[in-house]
Amino acid sequence: MPETLSSPGEPDSRIVLEIDALYRGSPYWELDTADARTFVSAGPPGGEAGQAHWVGEVLARSRVVDVNERAVHLVGALDGREEMIGRPIAEFWPPDSHDDLAELIAAVATDPSPHATRTRDITSLLLQDPVLTVWRSPESGADTVFATVRGALIDRRSYWTLRASEDRYRKLIHHMPNPLLRVDARVMGRVFARLKAEGVCDIGAYLDDHPELIAFAEQSVRITEINRAAALLFGARNAADLIGPVECLFKASPETARRVMIAHFDGRRSHAEVMKLRTLDGRLLDVQIAVTFPTPPEQLDVTVIGLDDLTDRLRTEAQLRQLQADFTRAARISTLGELATSIAHEVNQPLAAIFTNAETSLRWLSRDEPNLAKVVQLTTRIVASARHANEIVHRIRAMTAKHAPERLPVDLNEVVDEALLFLRHDIESRSIRLSTRLGLGLPRVIGDRVQLQQVIVNLLVNSVQAVAQAGTRDGRVELSTGLGPGGEVVFVIRDNGPGIPEDDLDRIFEGFFTTKDEGMGLGLAICQSIMAAHRGGIAASNRPEGGAAFRFWLPAEPDPA
Ligand code: ADP
Repeated sequence: MPETLSSPGEPDSRIVLEIDALYRGSPYWELDTADARTFVSAGPPGGEAGQAHWVGEVLARSRVVDVNERAVHLVGALDGREEMIGRPIAEFWPPDSHDDLAELIAAVATDPSPHATRTRDITSLLLQDPVLTVWRSPESGADTVFATVRGALIDRRSYWTLRASEDRYRKLIHHMPNPLLRVDARVMGRVFARLKAEGVCDIGAYLDDHPELIAFAEQSVRITEINRAAALLFGARNAADLIGPVECLFKASPETARRVMIAHFDGRRSHAEVMKLRTLDGRLLDVQIAVTFPTPPEQLDVTVIGLDDLTDRLRTEAQLRQLQADFTRAARISTLGELATSIAHEVNQPLAAIFTNAETSLRWLSRDEPNLAKVVQLTTRIVASARHANEIVHRIRAMTAKHAPERLPVDLNEVVDEALLFLRHDIESRSIRLSTRLGLGLPRVIGDRVQLQQVIVNLLVNSVQAVAQAGTRDGRVELSTGLGPGGEVVFVIRDNGPGIPEDDLDRIFEGFFTTKDEGMGLGLAICQSIMAAHRGGIAASNRPEGGAAFRFWLPAEPDPA
Protein backbone atom coordinates (compact mmCIF):
# COMPACT_ATOMS: atom_id res chain seq x y z
CA MET A 1 0.00 0.00 0.00
CA PRO A 2 1.38 3.43 -0.83
CA GLU A 3 1.75 5.70 2.15
CA THR A 4 -0.99 8.33 2.17
CA LEU A 5 0.01 11.82 3.06
CA SER A 6 -2.40 13.89 5.06
CA SER A 7 -3.09 17.44 4.08
CA PRO A 8 -4.40 20.55 5.68
CA GLY A 9 -8.15 20.32 5.60
CA GLU A 10 -8.83 24.05 5.28
CA PRO A 11 -5.56 25.41 3.97
CA ASP A 12 -5.79 28.97 5.08
CA SER A 13 -3.86 29.36 8.31
CA ARG A 14 -0.38 28.99 9.66
CA ILE A 15 -1.61 26.83 12.51
CA VAL A 16 -2.80 24.19 10.12
CA LEU A 17 0.59 24.27 8.46
CA GLU A 18 2.43 23.91 11.70
CA ILE A 19 0.28 20.99 12.74
CA ASP A 20 0.96 19.56 9.34
CA ALA A 21 4.67 20.05 9.81
CA LEU A 22 4.44 18.45 13.22
CA TYR A 23 2.93 15.32 11.79
CA ARG A 24 5.22 15.49 8.80
CA GLY A 25 2.26 15.16 6.52
CA SER A 26 2.19 16.78 3.11
CA PRO A 27 5.22 18.70 1.95
CA TYR A 28 4.66 22.43 2.23
CA TRP A 29 6.53 25.54 1.33
CA GLU A 30 6.23 29.10 2.50
CA LEU A 31 7.32 31.45 -0.25
CA ASP A 32 8.15 35.12 -0.45
CA THR A 33 6.59 36.31 -3.70
CA ALA A 34 7.09 40.07 -3.40
CA ASP A 35 9.47 40.09 -6.36
CA ALA A 36 7.39 37.66 -8.39
CA ARG A 37 4.29 39.82 -7.84
CA THR A 38 5.83 42.90 -9.41
CA PHE A 39 6.95 40.79 -12.38
CA VAL A 40 3.61 39.10 -12.85
CA SER A 41 1.71 42.36 -12.83
CA ALA A 42 4.02 43.50 -15.67
CA GLY A 43 1.88 41.44 -18.05
CA PRO A 44 1.14 37.98 -19.36
CA PRO A 45 3.54 36.06 -21.62
CA GLY A 46 3.20 35.60 -25.38
CA GLY A 47 4.20 32.48 -27.37
CA GLU A 48 5.80 29.24 -26.22
CA ALA A 49 9.27 30.67 -25.60
CA GLY A 50 7.67 33.62 -23.83
CA GLN A 51 5.73 31.24 -21.59
CA ALA A 52 8.87 29.28 -20.65
CA HIS A 53 10.72 32.48 -19.85
CA TRP A 54 7.78 33.76 -17.80
CA VAL A 55 7.57 30.51 -15.78
CA GLY A 56 11.32 30.66 -15.13
CA GLU A 57 11.07 34.26 -13.94
CA VAL A 58 8.11 33.67 -11.60
CA LEU A 59 9.86 30.75 -9.91
CA ALA A 60 13.25 32.49 -9.77
CA ARG A 61 11.57 35.43 -8.03
CA SER A 62 9.69 33.27 -5.50
CA ARG A 63 12.04 32.57 -2.60
CA VAL A 64 11.77 29.89 0.03
CA VAL A 65 10.95 31.29 3.49
CA ASP A 66 10.29 27.97 5.14
CA VAL A 67 9.72 24.30 4.30
CA ASN A 68 8.70 21.28 6.33
CA GLU A 69 10.67 18.03 6.68
CA ARG A 70 8.56 16.26 4.10
CA ALA A 71 9.36 18.87 1.47
CA VAL A 72 13.06 18.65 2.34
CA HIS A 73 12.97 14.88 2.01
CA LEU A 74 11.12 14.90 -1.26
CA VAL A 75 12.76 17.67 -3.23
CA GLY A 76 15.15 19.36 -0.84
CA ALA A 77 18.81 20.33 -1.13
CA LEU A 78 21.42 17.84 0.03
CA ASP A 79 22.31 19.94 3.06
CA GLY A 80 18.72 20.12 4.19
CA ARG A 81 16.30 22.81 5.16
CA GLU A 82 18.80 25.53 6.12
CA GLU A 83 20.33 25.48 2.67
CA MET A 84 16.96 26.04 1.05
CA ILE A 85 15.95 29.14 2.97
CA GLY A 86 16.22 32.29 0.89
CA ARG A 87 16.81 30.41 -2.37
CA PRO A 88 14.46 30.55 -5.37
CA ILE A 89 11.89 27.73 -5.42
CA ALA A 90 12.91 27.16 -9.09
CA GLU A 91 16.01 25.35 -7.79
CA PHE A 92 14.03 22.70 -5.95
CA TRP A 93 10.64 22.32 -7.56
CA PRO A 94 10.42 19.32 -9.96
CA PRO A 95 10.47 20.62 -13.55
CA ASP A 96 7.43 18.48 -14.57
CA SER A 97 5.18 20.90 -12.73
CA HIS A 98 7.07 24.21 -12.99
CA ASP A 99 4.31 25.60 -15.24
CA ASP A 100 1.62 24.62 -12.75
CA LEU A 101 3.38 26.13 -9.76
CA ALA A 102 4.20 29.38 -11.59
CA GLU A 103 0.64 29.81 -12.82
CA LEU A 104 -0.88 29.16 -9.40
CA ILE A 105 1.61 31.50 -7.69
CA ALA A 106 0.78 34.20 -10.25
CA ALA A 107 -2.95 33.67 -9.77
CA VAL A 108 -2.76 33.83 -5.97
CA ALA A 109 -0.25 36.68 -5.92
CA THR A 110 -2.46 38.86 -8.10
CA ASP A 111 -5.73 37.87 -6.38
CA PRO A 112 -6.72 40.69 -4.02
CA SER A 113 -8.65 38.35 -1.68
CA PRO A 114 -6.76 37.64 1.59
CA HIS A 115 -8.03 34.03 1.35
CA ALA A 116 -6.95 33.52 -2.28
CA THR A 117 -6.57 29.79 -2.98
CA ARG A 118 -5.89 27.87 -6.18
CA THR A 119 -5.84 24.08 -6.65
CA ARG A 120 -4.81 21.98 -9.62
CA ASP A 121 -4.01 18.32 -10.52
CA ILE A 122 -0.38 18.01 -11.52
CA THR A 123 1.94 15.20 -12.64
CA SER A 124 4.66 13.89 -10.42
CA LEU A 125 7.17 11.07 -10.41
CA LEU A 126 6.72 10.71 -6.69
CA LEU A 127 3.04 11.01 -5.92
CA GLN A 128 -0.05 9.34 -7.22
CA ASP A 129 -2.77 11.73 -8.45
CA PRO A 130 -1.01 14.71 -6.88
CA VAL A 131 -2.98 17.90 -6.21
CA LEU A 132 -1.13 21.18 -5.85
CA THR A 133 -2.65 23.90 -3.67
CA VAL A 134 -1.27 27.42 -3.45
CA TRP A 135 -2.87 29.92 -1.11
CA ARG A 136 -2.45 33.02 1.00
CA SER A 137 -3.44 33.46 4.61
CA PRO A 138 -4.72 36.79 5.95
CA GLU A 139 -2.15 36.76 8.77
CA SER A 140 0.88 36.40 6.59
CA GLY A 141 0.45 39.42 4.37
CA ALA A 142 0.18 39.97 0.63
CA ASP A 143 3.72 38.86 -0.29
CA THR A 144 3.68 35.42 1.29
CA VAL A 145 2.08 32.39 -0.31
CA PHE A 146 1.99 28.76 0.77
CA ALA A 147 2.12 25.71 -1.38
CA THR A 148 1.43 22.09 -0.60
CA VAL A 149 1.05 18.92 -2.62
CA ARG A 150 -1.31 16.17 -1.62
CA GLY A 151 -1.02 12.60 -2.94
CA ALA A 152 -0.02 9.05 -2.12
CA LEU A 153 3.69 8.40 -2.15
CA ILE A 154 4.79 6.12 -5.00
CA ASP A 155 8.45 5.92 -4.20
CA ARG A 156 10.23 6.63 -0.95
CA ARG A 157 13.33 7.91 -2.73
CA SER A 158 13.69 11.67 -3.07
CA TYR A 159 12.73 13.37 -6.28
CA TRP A 160 16.32 14.12 -7.24
CA THR A 161 17.48 10.53 -6.65
CA LEU A 162 14.62 9.36 -8.83
CA ARG A 163 15.41 12.04 -11.35
CA ALA A 164 19.05 10.95 -11.55
CA SER A 165 18.06 7.34 -12.14
CA GLU A 166 15.55 8.53 -14.74
CA ASP A 167 18.28 10.51 -16.49
CA ARG A 168 20.59 7.51 -16.58
CA TYR A 169 17.77 5.41 -18.00
CA ARG A 170 16.96 8.10 -20.58
CA LYS A 171 20.57 8.28 -21.78
CA LEU A 172 20.70 4.51 -22.03
CA ILE A 173 17.50 4.41 -24.06
CA HIS A 174 18.60 7.28 -26.25
CA HIS A 175 21.72 5.48 -27.37
CA MET A 176 20.17 2.05 -27.74
CA PRO A 177 20.45 0.73 -31.30
CA ASN A 178 16.82 -0.49 -31.27
CA PRO A 179 14.09 2.00 -32.08
CA LEU A 180 12.22 2.77 -28.84
CA LEU A 181 9.29 5.02 -28.06
CA ARG A 182 8.10 6.03 -24.66
CA VAL A 183 4.37 6.41 -24.52
CA ASP A 184 2.03 7.88 -21.95
CA ALA A 185 -1.04 5.64 -21.94
CA ARG A 186 -2.32 6.52 -18.49
CA VAL A 187 -5.50 8.02 -19.92
CA MET A 188 -6.44 4.60 -21.25
CA GLY A 189 -5.53 3.00 -17.93
CA ARG A 190 -8.17 5.21 -16.34
CA VAL A 191 -10.72 4.67 -19.13
CA PHE A 192 -10.27 0.90 -18.85
CA ALA A 193 -10.63 1.01 -15.04
CA ARG A 194 -13.92 2.83 -15.50
CA LEU A 195 -15.17 0.38 -18.14
CA LYS A 196 -14.30 -2.53 -15.88
CA ALA A 197 -16.16 -0.87 -13.01
CA GLU A 198 -19.15 -0.60 -15.35
CA GLY A 199 -18.94 -4.36 -15.92
CA VAL A 200 -17.26 -4.49 -19.34
CA CYS A 201 -15.28 -7.74 -19.61
CA ASP A 202 -14.97 -8.34 -23.36
CA ILE A 203 -13.19 -5.26 -24.66
CA GLY A 204 -13.06 -6.70 -28.21
CA ALA A 205 -16.86 -6.74 -28.39
CA TYR A 206 -17.00 -3.32 -26.74
CA LEU A 207 -14.64 -1.85 -29.35
CA ASP A 208 -16.77 -3.36 -32.13
CA ASP A 209 -19.71 -1.38 -30.76
CA HIS A 210 -17.65 1.72 -29.93
CA PRO A 211 -15.01 2.15 -32.65
CA GLU A 212 -14.71 5.77 -31.57
CA LEU A 213 -12.83 4.59 -28.48
CA ILE A 214 -9.98 3.41 -30.72
CA ALA A 215 -9.84 6.83 -32.37
CA PHE A 216 -9.93 8.42 -28.92
CA ALA A 217 -7.05 6.24 -27.72
CA GLU A 218 -4.99 7.00 -30.81
CA GLN A 219 -5.41 10.69 -30.08
CA SER A 220 -5.04 10.71 -26.31
CA VAL A 221 -2.26 8.18 -25.87
CA ARG A 222 0.84 10.18 -26.61
CA ILE A 223 4.40 9.52 -27.61
CA THR A 224 6.43 11.46 -25.05
CA GLU A 225 9.93 10.49 -26.04
CA ILE A 226 11.74 8.64 -28.81
CA ASN A 227 15.34 7.59 -29.19
CA ARG A 228 17.68 8.28 -32.11
CA ALA A 229 17.13 4.88 -33.70
CA ALA A 230 13.36 5.48 -33.74
CA ALA A 231 13.77 8.90 -35.35
CA LEU A 232 15.93 7.27 -38.02
CA LEU A 233 13.41 4.48 -38.61
CA PHE A 234 10.58 6.97 -39.05
CA GLY A 235 12.66 9.23 -41.28
CA ALA A 236 11.95 12.04 -38.80
CA ARG A 237 14.09 15.17 -38.99
CA ASN A 238 14.12 15.33 -35.22
CA ALA A 239 12.41 13.73 -32.26
CA ALA A 240 9.84 16.51 -32.03
CA ASP A 241 8.29 15.36 -35.32
CA LEU A 242 6.98 12.29 -33.53
CA ILE A 243 6.11 13.65 -30.10
CA GLY A 244 2.33 13.73 -29.93
CA PRO A 245 -0.61 11.36 -30.50
CA VAL A 246 0.36 7.73 -30.99
CA GLU A 247 -1.91 7.65 -34.06
CA CYS A 248 1.04 8.10 -36.45
CA LEU A 249 2.26 4.64 -35.48
CA PHE A 250 -0.83 2.78 -36.64
CA LYS A 251 -1.68 4.59 -39.91
CA ALA A 252 -0.93 1.52 -42.04
CA SER A 253 -2.14 -1.06 -39.48
CA PRO A 254 -5.27 0.13 -37.69
CA GLU A 255 -6.02 -3.43 -36.54
CA THR A 256 -2.78 -3.45 -34.53
CA ALA A 257 -3.98 -0.47 -32.48
CA ARG A 258 -7.09 -2.45 -31.58
CA ARG A 259 -5.09 -5.52 -30.54
CA VAL A 260 -2.71 -3.41 -28.44
CA MET A 261 -5.74 -1.93 -26.64
CA ILE A 262 -7.19 -5.38 -25.99
CA ALA A 263 -3.86 -6.57 -24.54
CA HIS A 264 -3.70 -3.47 -22.32
CA PHE A 265 -7.29 -3.95 -21.13
CA ASP A 266 -6.75 -7.66 -20.43
CA GLY A 267 -3.86 -6.73 -18.16
CA ARG A 268 -1.21 -8.44 -20.23
CA ARG A 269 2.32 -7.21 -19.58
CA SER A 270 3.26 -7.05 -23.24
CA HIS A 271 2.04 -7.47 -26.78
CA ALA A 272 4.06 -8.17 -29.93
CA GLU A 273 3.20 -8.65 -33.57
CA VAL A 274 4.44 -7.90 -37.07
CA MET A 275 2.78 -4.93 -38.70
CA LYS A 276 3.08 -2.44 -41.54
CA LEU A 277 4.49 0.96 -40.63
CA ARG A 278 4.14 4.08 -42.78
CA THR A 279 7.13 6.32 -42.09
CA LEU A 280 7.02 10.12 -42.05
CA ASP A 281 8.82 10.17 -45.41
CA GLY A 282 6.25 7.81 -46.93
CA ARG A 283 8.04 4.42 -46.91
CA LEU A 284 6.04 1.32 -46.02
CA LEU A 285 7.98 -0.98 -43.69
CA ASP A 286 7.37 -4.37 -42.10
CA VAL A 287 8.16 -4.00 -38.43
CA GLN A 288 7.88 -6.10 -35.34
CA ILE A 289 6.19 -4.01 -32.68
CA ALA A 290 6.63 -4.96 -29.01
CA VAL A 291 4.62 -3.01 -26.45
CA THR A 292 5.47 -3.30 -22.76
CA PHE A 293 2.75 -2.02 -20.48
CA PRO A 294 3.43 -0.58 -17.02
CA THR A 295 2.52 -2.60 -13.96
CA PRO A 296 -0.69 -1.31 -12.44
CA PRO A 297 -1.43 1.05 -10.78
CA GLU A 298 -0.15 3.04 -13.73
CA GLN A 299 1.22 6.15 -12.10
CA LEU A 300 4.15 6.52 -14.45
CA ASP A 301 4.09 7.00 -18.18
CA VAL A 302 6.31 4.03 -18.81
CA THR A 303 4.61 2.19 -21.62
CA VAL A 304 7.54 1.38 -23.88
CA ILE A 305 7.21 0.47 -27.54
CA GLY A 306 10.08 -1.24 -29.34
CA LEU A 307 10.14 -1.46 -33.11
CA ASP A 308 12.28 -3.76 -35.18
CA ASP A 309 12.56 -3.22 -38.92
CA LEU A 310 11.98 -6.58 -40.61
CA THR A 311 11.56 -5.26 -44.16
CA ASP A 312 14.91 -6.47 -45.48
CA ARG A 313 14.72 -9.73 -43.60
CA LEU A 314 11.22 -10.53 -44.87
CA ARG A 315 12.20 -9.58 -48.42
CA THR A 316 15.26 -11.83 -48.26
CA GLU A 317 13.18 -14.62 -46.78
CA ALA A 318 10.64 -14.30 -49.60
CA GLN A 319 13.43 -14.36 -52.18
CA LEU A 320 14.94 -17.39 -50.50
CA ARG A 321 11.58 -19.15 -50.47
CA GLN A 322 11.14 -18.39 -54.16
CA LEU A 323 14.65 -19.65 -54.91
CA GLN A 324 13.99 -22.79 -52.92
CA ALA A 325 10.70 -23.38 -54.76
CA ASP A 326 12.37 -22.88 -58.15
CA PHE A 327 15.14 -25.21 -57.12
CA THR A 328 12.82 -27.90 -55.80
CA ARG A 329 10.89 -27.74 -59.05
CA ALA A 330 14.07 -27.96 -61.13
CA ALA A 331 15.14 -30.99 -59.12
CA ARG A 332 11.73 -32.56 -59.66
CA ILE A 333 11.92 -32.03 -63.41
CA SER A 334 15.44 -33.42 -63.47
CA THR A 335 14.31 -36.53 -61.56
CA LEU A 336 11.38 -36.96 -63.90
CA GLY A 337 13.86 -36.75 -66.78
CA GLU A 338 15.80 -39.63 -65.23
CA LEU A 339 12.58 -41.56 -64.92
CA ALA A 340 11.48 -40.85 -68.50
CA THR A 341 11.57 -44.52 -69.52
CA SER A 342 9.55 -45.58 -66.55
CA ILE A 343 7.00 -42.81 -67.11
CA ALA A 344 6.75 -43.47 -70.83
CA HIS A 345 6.05 -47.09 -70.02
CA GLU A 346 3.37 -46.05 -67.55
CA VAL A 347 1.63 -43.89 -70.17
CA ASN A 348 2.06 -46.54 -72.87
CA GLN A 349 0.17 -49.17 -70.92
CA PRO A 350 -3.28 -47.55 -71.11
CA LEU A 351 -2.54 -46.38 -74.66
CA ALA A 352 -1.76 -49.97 -75.67
CA ALA A 353 -4.96 -51.14 -74.00
CA ILE A 354 -6.95 -48.48 -75.85
CA PHE A 355 -5.37 -49.57 -79.10
CA THR A 356 -6.14 -53.26 -78.58
CA ASN A 357 -9.68 -52.66 -77.35
CA ALA A 358 -10.43 -50.28 -80.22
CA GLU A 359 -9.16 -52.79 -82.79
CA THR A 360 -11.22 -55.59 -81.26
CA SER A 361 -14.38 -53.50 -81.16
CA LEU A 362 -13.85 -52.56 -84.82
CA ARG A 363 -13.71 -56.27 -85.61
CA TRP A 364 -16.96 -56.87 -83.69
CA LEU A 365 -18.59 -54.01 -85.55
CA SER A 366 -17.48 -55.18 -89.00
CA ARG A 367 -19.18 -58.55 -88.62
CA ASP A 368 -22.34 -59.18 -90.58
CA GLU A 369 -24.19 -59.07 -87.31
CA PRO A 370 -22.31 -56.62 -85.12
CA ASN A 371 -22.16 -57.70 -81.46
CA LEU A 372 -23.16 -54.44 -79.88
CA ALA A 373 -23.05 -55.75 -76.31
CA LYS A 374 -19.37 -56.66 -76.83
CA VAL A 375 -18.69 -53.26 -78.40
CA VAL A 376 -20.29 -51.50 -75.41
CA GLN A 377 -18.08 -53.53 -73.06
CA LEU A 378 -14.91 -52.75 -75.03
CA THR A 379 -15.75 -49.06 -75.40
CA THR A 380 -16.26 -48.86 -71.64
CA ARG A 381 -12.73 -50.27 -71.19
CA ILE A 382 -11.40 -47.76 -73.72
CA VAL A 383 -12.94 -44.92 -71.74
CA ALA A 384 -11.45 -46.27 -68.51
CA SER A 385 -8.00 -46.57 -70.09
CA ALA A 386 -8.21 -43.10 -71.61
CA ARG A 387 -9.16 -41.77 -68.17
CA HIS A 388 -6.19 -43.58 -66.64
CA ALA A 389 -3.80 -42.16 -69.27
CA ASN A 390 -5.24 -38.75 -68.64
CA GLU A 391 -4.65 -39.12 -64.91
CA ILE A 392 -1.03 -40.08 -65.47
CA VAL A 393 -0.43 -37.09 -67.71
CA HIS A 394 -2.16 -34.93 -65.14
CA ARG A 395 0.14 -36.16 -62.36
CA ILE A 396 3.26 -35.67 -64.42
CA ARG A 397 2.14 -32.18 -65.27
CA ALA A 398 1.49 -31.50 -61.56
CA MET A 399 5.04 -32.60 -60.79
CA THR A 400 6.50 -30.18 -63.33
CA ALA A 401 4.04 -27.30 -62.85
CA LYS A 402 5.04 -24.17 -61.04
CA HIS A 403 2.77 -23.52 -58.12
CA ALA A 404 3.03 -22.02 -54.67
CA PRO A 405 3.26 -24.70 -51.98
CA GLU A 406 -0.16 -25.70 -50.68
CA ARG A 407 -1.27 -26.50 -47.17
CA LEU A 408 -4.12 -28.98 -47.58
CA PRO A 409 -5.11 -32.21 -45.84
CA VAL A 410 -3.36 -35.08 -47.62
CA ASP A 411 -3.69 -38.86 -47.28
CA LEU A 412 -0.08 -40.07 -47.24
CA ASN A 413 -1.03 -43.55 -48.50
CA GLU A 414 -2.46 -41.99 -51.64
CA VAL A 415 0.74 -40.03 -52.15
CA VAL A 416 2.75 -43.27 -51.87
CA ASP A 417 0.60 -44.84 -54.62
CA GLU A 418 1.01 -41.81 -56.84
CA ALA A 419 4.77 -41.72 -56.34
CA LEU A 420 5.03 -45.41 -57.28
CA LEU A 421 3.51 -44.55 -60.62
CA PHE A 422 6.74 -42.89 -61.66
CA LEU A 423 8.93 -45.84 -60.73
CA ARG A 424 6.85 -48.96 -61.10
CA HIS A 425 8.30 -49.87 -64.44
CA ASP A 426 11.86 -49.16 -63.32
CA ILE A 427 11.38 -51.41 -60.33
CA GLU A 428 9.83 -54.20 -62.37
CA SER A 429 12.39 -54.03 -65.16
CA ARG A 430 15.22 -54.42 -62.63
CA SER A 431 13.42 -57.33 -61.02
CA ILE A 432 13.37 -55.61 -57.66
CA ARG A 433 10.80 -57.01 -55.27
CA LEU A 434 8.68 -54.19 -53.96
CA SER A 435 6.46 -54.67 -50.94
CA THR A 436 4.20 -52.04 -49.44
CA ARG A 437 2.55 -52.13 -46.04
CA LEU A 438 0.30 -49.07 -45.75
CA GLY A 439 -1.25 -48.38 -42.35
CA LEU A 440 -5.04 -48.41 -42.29
CA GLY A 441 -7.09 -45.48 -41.03
CA LEU A 442 -4.11 -43.14 -40.73
CA PRO A 443 -4.88 -39.51 -39.95
CA ARG A 444 -4.20 -37.11 -42.78
CA VAL A 445 -1.29 -34.68 -42.79
CA ILE A 446 -1.35 -31.04 -43.80
CA GLY A 447 0.89 -30.22 -46.70
CA ASP A 448 1.71 -29.96 -50.34
CA ARG A 449 0.84 -33.16 -52.19
CA VAL A 450 3.35 -32.67 -55.00
CA GLN A 451 6.22 -31.90 -52.63
CA LEU A 452 5.44 -34.98 -50.54
CA GLN A 453 5.36 -37.04 -53.74
CA GLN A 454 8.75 -35.62 -54.57
CA VAL A 455 10.18 -36.77 -51.24
CA ILE A 456 8.89 -40.32 -51.73
CA VAL A 457 10.07 -40.42 -55.36
CA ASN A 458 13.56 -39.21 -54.29
CA LEU A 459 13.81 -41.87 -51.58
CA LEU A 460 12.53 -44.56 -53.95
CA VAL A 461 14.99 -43.57 -56.68
CA ASN A 462 17.86 -43.74 -54.16
CA SER A 463 16.80 -47.17 -52.90
CA VAL A 464 16.33 -48.55 -56.40
CA GLN A 465 19.75 -47.22 -57.41
CA ALA A 466 21.37 -48.60 -54.23
CA VAL A 467 19.86 -52.04 -54.77
CA ALA A 468 20.83 -51.98 -58.46
CA GLN A 469 24.35 -50.94 -57.47
CA ALA A 470 24.65 -53.85 -55.04
CA GLY A 471 23.84 -56.06 -58.00
CA THR A 472 22.21 -58.85 -55.97
CA ARG A 473 19.65 -61.05 -57.61
CA ASP A 474 17.39 -60.64 -54.63
CA GLY A 475 16.89 -56.84 -54.63
CA ARG A 476 14.18 -55.75 -52.20
CA VAL A 477 12.55 -52.44 -51.36
CA GLU A 478 9.91 -52.21 -48.63
CA LEU A 479 7.63 -49.25 -48.06
CA SER A 480 5.46 -48.81 -45.03
CA THR A 481 3.37 -46.14 -43.39
CA GLY A 482 2.04 -46.02 -39.85
CA LEU A 483 1.50 -44.00 -36.71
CA GLY A 484 4.49 -42.87 -34.61
CA PRO A 485 4.61 -42.90 -30.81
CA GLY A 486 3.68 -39.19 -30.67
CA GLY A 487 0.69 -39.56 -33.01
CA GLU A 488 2.72 -38.43 -36.04
CA VAL A 489 2.35 -40.09 -39.44
CA VAL A 490 5.50 -42.03 -40.35
CA PHE A 491 6.81 -43.27 -43.71
CA VAL A 492 9.65 -45.81 -43.82
CA ILE A 493 11.56 -47.14 -46.81
CA ARG A 494 14.03 -50.02 -46.40
CA ASP A 495 16.27 -51.60 -49.00
CA ASN A 496 18.87 -54.34 -49.06
CA GLY A 497 21.47 -52.32 -50.94
CA PRO A 498 25.00 -51.65 -49.67
CA GLY A 499 23.82 -49.31 -46.90
CA ILE A 500 25.48 -46.00 -46.06
CA PRO A 501 29.08 -45.81 -44.80
CA GLU A 502 28.93 -44.77 -41.11
CA ASP A 503 31.07 -41.68 -41.83
CA ASP A 504 28.62 -40.48 -44.46
CA LEU A 505 25.49 -40.83 -42.31
CA ASP A 506 25.88 -37.27 -41.04
CA ARG A 507 26.59 -35.83 -44.48
CA ILE A 508 24.08 -37.37 -46.87
CA PHE A 509 21.50 -34.63 -46.20
CA GLU A 510 23.99 -31.90 -47.06
CA GLY A 511 23.50 -30.24 -50.43
CA PHE A 512 25.81 -31.54 -53.17
CA PHE A 513 26.94 -34.57 -51.19
CA THR A 514 26.94 -37.52 -53.54
CA THR A 515 28.82 -40.78 -53.99
CA LYS A 516 27.40 -41.37 -57.46
CA ASP A 517 29.19 -40.56 -60.71
CA GLU A 518 26.10 -38.97 -62.19
CA GLY A 519 24.71 -37.75 -58.90
CA MET A 520 23.91 -34.13 -58.03
CA GLY A 521 23.67 -34.70 -54.29
CA LEU A 522 20.47 -32.65 -54.00
CA GLY A 523 17.74 -35.26 -53.55
CA LEU A 524 18.09 -35.73 -49.79
CA ALA A 525 18.82 -32.05 -49.13
CA ILE A 526 15.54 -31.20 -50.85
CA CYS A 527 13.72 -33.96 -48.91
CA GLN A 528 15.01 -32.44 -45.69
CA SER A 529 13.94 -28.91 -46.57
CA ILE A 530 10.49 -30.11 -47.65
CA MET A 531 10.12 -31.97 -44.35
CA ALA A 532 11.22 -28.91 -42.38
CA ALA A 533 8.64 -26.80 -44.24
CA HIS A 534 6.01 -29.35 -43.18
CA ARG A 535 7.16 -29.28 -39.53
CA GLY A 536 8.26 -32.87 -39.85
CA GLY A 537 11.64 -34.55 -40.02
CA ILE A 538 13.69 -37.13 -41.85
CA ALA A 539 16.45 -39.52 -40.71
CA ALA A 540 18.63 -42.24 -42.21
CA SER A 541 20.05 -45.38 -40.64
CA ASN A 542 21.65 -48.66 -41.61
CA ARG A 543 19.77 -51.89 -41.04
CA PRO A 544 21.45 -54.57 -38.93
CA GLU A 545 20.73 -57.12 -41.65
CA GLY A 546 22.30 -54.84 -44.30
CA GLY A 547 20.92 -52.04 -46.43
CA ALA A 548 19.64 -48.59 -45.62
CA ALA A 549 16.44 -47.34 -44.03
CA PHE A 550 15.02 -43.85 -44.36
CA ARG A 551 12.19 -42.63 -42.19
CA PHE A 552 10.26 -39.39 -42.36
CA TRP A 553 7.45 -38.18 -40.13
CA LEU A 554 4.82 -35.47 -40.31
CA PRO A 555 2.44 -34.08 -37.71
CA ALA A 556 -1.07 -35.49 -38.11
CA GLU A 557 -3.84 -33.12 -39.14
CA PRO A 558 -5.27 -31.66 -35.93
CA ASP A 559 -8.55 -33.25 -34.92
CA PRO A 560 -11.27 -30.70 -35.78
CA ALA A 561 -13.05 -31.59 -32.52
P1 ADP B 1 22.29 -38.20 -55.24
O1 ADP B 1 21.29 -39.30 -55.34
O2 ADP B 1 22.28 -37.28 -56.40
O3 ADP B 1 23.67 -38.65 -54.89
P2 ADP B 1 21.00 -37.63 -52.74
O4 ADP B 1 20.99 -36.40 -51.91
O5 ADP B 1 19.68 -38.21 -53.07
O6 ADP B 1 21.84 -37.28 -54.03
O7 ADP B 1 21.84 -38.75 -51.97
C1 ADP B 1 23.08 -38.41 -51.40
C2 ADP B 1 23.90 -39.64 -51.13
O8 ADP B 1 23.31 -40.40 -50.09
C3 ADP B 1 23.99 -40.59 -52.26
O9 ADP B 1 25.00 -40.23 -53.18
C4 ADP B 1 24.34 -41.89 -51.54
O10 ADP B 1 25.72 -41.94 -51.22
C5 ADP B 1 23.60 -41.77 -50.25
N1 ADP B 1 22.35 -42.53 -50.26
C6 ADP B 1 21.09 -42.05 -50.43
N2 ADP B 1 20.18 -43.04 -50.37
C7 ADP B 1 20.85 -44.18 -50.15
C8 ADP B 1 20.47 -45.56 -49.99
N3 ADP B 1 19.19 -45.94 -50.04
N4 ADP B 1 21.47 -46.46 -49.78
C9 ADP B 1 22.73 -46.08 -49.73
N5 ADP B 1 23.15 -44.80 -49.86
C10 ADP B 1 22.24 -43.86 -50.09
